[in-house]
Amino acid sequence: MNIAVDNPATGAAIGHVPDASAEEVAEAVERARRAQPDWAALSARTRAELFARGRRWLLKHRQEIASSIVAENGKALEDAIVEIVYCAGAFAYWAKHAPRLLADTKIRSLSPFVLGRAMYTRRVPVGVVGVIGPWNNPLINSFGDAIPALAAGNAVVLKPSEHTPLTALLLEKMALECGWPDDVFQVVTGAGATGQALVDTADFVMFTGSTRTGRVVAARAGERLVPCSLELGGKDALVVLADADLERAVNVTIQGALSNGGQMCTSVERVYVEEPVYDAFVDLLCERFEQVTSGKPAGLGSTDVGAVTFPPQLAVIAGHVEDAVDKGARVLVGGQASPGPGRFFEPTLLADVDHTMKCMREETFGPTLPVMKVATAEEAVRLVNDSSYGLQASIIGSSMKRARRLAEQLEVGCVTVNDAQTNYMAMGLPMGGWKESGLGVRHGAEGIRKYTRLQAISTNRFPMRRDPHMIPYQPSAYRFILRLVDVMYGTGLFGRDK
Ligand code: NAD
Repeated sequence: MNIAVDNPATGAAIGHVPDASAEEVAEAVERARRAQPDWAALSARTRAELFARGRRWLLKHRQEIASSIVAENGKALEDAIVEIVYCAGAFAYWAKHAPRLLADTKIRSLSPFVLGRAMYTRRVPVGVVGVIGPWNNPLINSFGDAIPALAAGNAVVLKPSEHTPLTALLLEKMALECGWPDDVFQVVTGAGATGQALVDTADFVMFTGSTRTGRVVAARAGERLVPCSLELGGKDALVVLADADLERAVNVTIQGALSNGGQMCTSVERVYVEEPVYDAFVDLLCERFEQVTSGKPAGLGSTDVGAVTFPPQLAVIAGHVEDAVDKGARVLVGGQASPGPGRFFEPTLLADVDHTMKCMREETFGPTLPVMKVATAEEAVRLVNDSSYGLQASIIGSSMKRARRLAEQLEVGCVTVNDAQTNYMAMGLPMGGWKESGLGVRHGAEGIRKYTRLQAISTNRFPMRRDPHMIPYQPSAYRFILRLVDVMYGTGLFGRDK
């Protein structure tokens, strides 16, 4: 059976991909499992060279890849280019840093019980990593997460979203043309059942998608006792403090809310503004929102906001606007879906919102933005934290000291001050959600170490006959150790011989 793929910006059919069965997924995982030991045995230098080839291939085929992303996702070309830049950077970053981040670590201990032992930890690839991706970033959130897994010596089987599977298939072509070993990187296409089959067979699951599916994946991984990393939904807030530069505040807000058509887990989805600057901020934001263009992408600069990728999302966005208006919100700009062909929603600005409204509590995933007045920054902190999500947040203000103090009170995995979303491009900086936004992180040391199992090795170098642990043969030596422990820890338990 096949799955049809359409272009959200035109409604035209653009391709079909296989809907892989559970057996086909199991076979792909088995092939990957056979290929993985040789891949892990390659030197980091050889893997880095294969990554460098992949990077060159990506850049050489950038137009083909960007066109594929735009066609299947409907996003603006600029947003597609960001995905390619990210992956090219990821190839270089993980090739360079994997050896250091995964190196053996010597462990020291002052415990008399392990006197003279040489101890260290090593990291072993988990085996086959199953990467499952969403539709909003067909390259970054799919292949992007495969790169560190491969750098750590794993084989990867990637299941892209059934709505945007075409770009991932180009990456399979990349692996082939760059001379990567067979089966080290494979793509299986299909819907939820294909994803589930991957969760049922992989040694580690790297999942990006909705919180709803994330729970199902985690439960299944839990049954199998295989680790998983979950990058889930968000309801990211932006706080404008009274001392903020409003020009900057508006620029950051628009970029954070509307890049990728607002279809980012890290999209700014709600704004809290301190009372003294609320009116001025809203006026300026309104002016800028009115200038934002929306429509079919047709090359650089052709549109600011592209299509709504996922068909049911249009109803969710409209529902959030409708619910807000019913409860007293004012639509300052936009407010409705645009006529077809293709799926578009007008960039929409809402004021007079509160936390009874869906637009302030549920993930909207569209080009809409509710703005709320708050009396103080402390009230903003309380409202930011009044959410089941905890992915990212932004604070805009002039005093770094105050902004950082507030940042540390937010219950989210990442906070950007005077910025939004830029943190994603810093691969050394961990990115992951708290609360219902996920488990684990991508990027940073943990972003690659999670793809390994930790093994601890302790070797006893004491000459046999002098080893105080050879009880009962040398009880006096053992008592000496206990006395030493007693002195060191002040336990008073072992020291006194009766
Ligand atoms: P989704 O949960 O519907 O689907 C994600 C993937 O899971 C798809 O490939 C789908 O086929 C697969 N899937 C569905 N059922 C499955 C199952 N039972 N077992 C295994 N796999 C299954 O999400 P979506 O609508 O494609 O993506 C949008 C969501 O992704 C939003 O909530 C967004 O916030 C989130 N997201 C999060 C991040 C992040 O880094 N935190 C990044 C991008 C997107």
